[in-house]
Amino acid sequence: MKVATWRGGTEFTIDVAPDPVIKPGLMVVKVDSAGICGTDIHTTQGLYEWDAPDVLGHEFSGVIVEVGEGVPSSRIGEEVACVPRAGCGECEACRTWTMGHCERRERRAGAFAEYVMVDQDAAYPLPEGLSLESSAMAEPAGCALSCVDMLGPQEEGFDALVIGTGIIGLFTVAFLKLRGAGRVIASEPHPVRREMARQFGADVLHDPGESSLDEVVGDLTDGKGVQVAAEAVGLPALVAKCVQLARPRGHALIVGVSPRRSPLPVDLFDMHFREISVRGAFGCGNSFRPALELLPRINLENVVGGRYPLDEIDAAFATSAAGEGVKFMMAPHD
Ligand SMILES: [Zn+2]
Ligand SMILES: [Zn+2]
Repeated sequence: MKVATWRGGTEFTIDVAPDPVIKPGLMVVKVDSAGICGTDIHTTQGLYEWDAPDVLGHEFSGVIVEVGEGVPSSRIGEEVACVPRAGCGECEACRTWTMGHCERRERRAGAFAEYVMVDQDAAYPLPEGLSLESSAMAEPAGCALSCVDMLGPQEEGFDALVIGTGIIGLFTVAFLKLRGAGRVIASEPHPVRREMARQFGADVLHDPGESSLDEVVGDLTDGKGVQVAAEAVGLPALVAKCVQLARPRGHALIVGVSPRRSPLPVDLFDMHFREISVRGAFGCGNSFRPALELLPRINLENVVGGRYPLDEIDAAFATSAAGEGVKFMMAPHD
């Protein structure tokens, strides 16, 4: 089978790899759509520590074509969305943390390939009306939902801010709305992504090149600040901005992935005095399936800006890195 191997930096090669050899409890999925994630881009830019060579791609969907011993053969032909790492459900991390941190299950090979092997409990059937392509966005949706659900119940109609509306910021907007947010302000410099925030439920769009976010939040909330301020970029200064723009007893939500060893540049006295809490969640945790089930309630029209065969992975990454759209898919069989 054909795979796109990441060789370090921005270099990929297209290789012929052995077809997956089925094992008990596993299934082979013929990849339909595999999304290019911000962390994949950051990996090629050296911003996210990862070792080459490797096959990337952890947001994917496809059709089950082969099952191992112990997996019902009736699953062959099933359309599924796949979680990158299924938990065993029994270890300490699965029981007390999330499946995403499972101590027993390994991450399996990436999906920028014609076929991938997955654990039988890592592939979920698609909800009614959801396409294979859209279902490949369940992973980034799960990351956003996992963060939003760390907040716990909020007063109905609460004000929220989301800084950064790449795909995870967009899903954060949508899930804040579904969890009862009243007004959501979305701040994003790139026009395509900013406009898309409206479709996901944002009420106020802010262009940081045009006006001050402090003023927009201040005007809208009579200077009080928002109950929830989410950072979905991965810049410590913007997480600090969220702490600053949260109202007393409000929450800053860490959705974006900041570089390792980043300190949080905040005035701790102010944070303590105004009783601001900082919440966040890593990866999609236990929220993959709930996010998949919620996807049909979100308008995903035009979110995918392009589909690329494996041979065009360089162009796909360049376009994705340029921020000219929201989500780009590798489509190994198109
Ligand atoms: Zn991802
Ligand atoms: Zn486990």
